[in-house]
Amino acid sequence: MGEFELIERYFKRAARQADVGIGDDCAIWTPTPGHQLAISADMLVEGRHFLSTVNPCDLGHKALAVNLSDLAACGATPRAFLLSLSLPRVDEEWLSGFSTGLFALADAHGCELIGGDTTQGPLNVSITVMGEVPVRQAILRSGAQVGDDVYVSGHLGDARLALEAFRGTVSLPQAVFELARARLERPTPRTALGVGLRGLATAMADISDGLWGDLGHILNASRLGADLHFPAISNLMLTRDTWTCPADLLQQCVLSGGDDYELVFTSHPSHHHQVMSLSESCNTPVTRIGHITADPRLLLLSKDGRVLPNTFRSFDHFA
Ligand code: ADP
Ligand code: MG
Repeated sequence: MGEFELIERYFKRAARQADVGIGDDCAIWTPTPGHQLAISADMLVEGRHFLSTVNPCDLGHKALAVNLSDLAACGATPRAFLLSLSLPRVDEEWLSGFSTGLFALADAHGCELIGGDTTQGPLNVSITVMGEVPVRQAILRSGAQVGDDVYVSGHLGDARLALEAFRGTVSLPQAVFELARARLERPTPRTALGVGLRGLATAMADISDGLWGDLGHILNASRLGADLHFPAISNLMLTRDTWTCPADLLQQCVLSGGDDYELVFTSHPSHHHQVMSLSESCNTPVTRIGHITADPRLLLLSKDGRVLPNTFRSFDHFA
């Protein structure tokens, strides 16, 4: 099968919202009046971001999920994406699984594949996603204010726990491993929450490299600090109901784990009820974990207010 047949068979579908989709030299797409484009790219490299043994359907899901998570982090509504694919060979079983996982998530979020590039080479999946946000309503990292509450969505640390289990540094009961593995391989982009937080959140980021580092980006951009309450943070793992994580590993997974694809955001305390009812209406748990301070440090506090030592770092590909 050649390149064009491959695109035709696995990636081309009738254009839905695009004026011109796959098959021309450019896709043509008309943005909604009064909106700004939000654009982001994320690449997944075999051996670096995923193992060669990963289920292709899960890989298709994750490749788009990590990009949708960036749109959610800015409060943008997903619209369209480009897929650049480097493949060692034409493997129809792989392509069929990959495109099934990819399109299932794309359709669930109203995000249309409008073009891309396909080449032969080491397995590499790169997606560029485009969304829309009403003019000047994008939620940036720089907007946090002293006294704002700090929240996170969903669960943290389980993806890292699965990675440690794959590496053999921890051994988990099968059911716990499956739960953690699903968090690693099939992350849930928090699109409805991110969009609903327009006008409520003062700053937001998605957690791809660990809470400590990604909240750190908000604090740097806002030139402020935060106090985090460890008791709130220590309850965030999804697997905590079925497995007791050793304290050291728990801190490492939750604070610097990475691959969570949850949202961390700040909001004025007067919006607390609105934040919680939004959490309920979009069926996404939200936990208040601390508050923003003028002191530019990020501190972890115990139940009785003591500053806990920390040695966490966020993930850095070149560190
Ligand atoms: P060009 O030669 O102009 O770069 P290509 O021949 O690479 O275009 O691609 C032909 C068409 O197929 C284009 O519309 C391109 O956007 C689309 N396309 C190529 N690869 C993919 C892919 N992996 N997913 C979706 N569309 C693709
Ligand atoms: Mg061309």
